[in-house]
Amino acid sequence: MKDVVAGIDIGGTNIIFGLVDNSGNVIAENRLKTVDYPDIKDYTYAQDEALNIMLRENPGHRLIGLGVGAPNANYHKGTIELAPNLAWKGIVPLAEFLKERVHVPVIVTNDANAAAMGEMIFGGAKEMKDFIVLTLGTGLGSGIVINGQVVYGHTGFAGELGHTVIVPGGRECGCGRRGCYETYASASGLVRTVLNLFSDMRADSVLRDLPPSELTSKKIVEEAEKGDAIALEAINYTAEMLALGIINAVTFSSPEAVFLFGGLVKAGELLLDPVRKYVDQNVMPIFRGTVKILPSGVSETNAAVLGAAALAWNELKK
Ligand SMILES: [Zn+2]
Repeated sequence: MKDVVAGIDIGGTNIIFGLVDNSGNVIAENRLKTVDYPDIKDYTYAQDEALNIMLRENPGHRLIGLGVGAPNANYHKGTIELAPNLAWKGIVPLAEFLKERVHVPVIVTNDANAAAMGEMIFGGAKEMKDFIVLTLGTGLGSGIVINGQVVYGHTGFAGELGHTVIVPGGRECGCGRRGCYETYASASGLVRTVLNLFSDMRADSVLRDLPPSELTSKKIVEEAEKGDAIALEAINYTAEMLALGIINAVTFSSPEAVFLFGGLVKAGELLLDPVRKYVDQNVMPIFRGTVKILPSGVSETNAAVLGAAALAWNELKK
């Protein structure tokens, strides 16, 4: 029998889960639809069933733990608390409910902390003790590792760099405040920047003629690669804002590397090169040249499951 853990990533649309061995091999992966389980108890029942089916289909494996990445998940308490994009309202004891069914240790955290754990156990941070992972999606998630430990803080919710204010009185944020990092440095932030540039710049751009639904970060990156002036300016501005947040984070915890993860990173050097340049020019002199800015070393295909699984493996090693 080979020991495996299950990595589970709970999102607003899908719950992706898989069996992962201690080398980071994903033995099987499947998904449930989040909207099919408005009741948390129904979900835990369905999750247990689905894992049992997966174990039957892949004989020779023994499940020894569950790692779960979920929005607003509290590592200390094993709860999901006030998650705006989930039907499970209030404070939900997810770890407790899952454990009642599956009978193995259950560890939960938010998806960005899980990504940081994935980077440490299976990705580019295997030899590092101090690093930060920024996930650039609709928002900006962050996992901060200091001295080999993910920082959870007093509440369990530490590491919300996406909601540090980098422009006082700036863009409105989903958290109800203004000028948060993620309103600039994220896929949706890039789109907002392009919309502003439509009025600030006179350059022709195919982006101007797109219906709003097609004006995506992916499309903007594609056009930037073809030399579109507005797309290039938007990426440059996004890089500058991304760098500003990184500079603040470097000043706070002096990481060896900052790993960038998510769709925006597909822009590659077009984004990374100016980020490195701005960081180098504007960070305090004692930190200059001390931090690597790298794309994530975890393959995007299985990243969510690997991150959650890494969380479980890390806990079981203790
Ligand atoms: Zn915010």
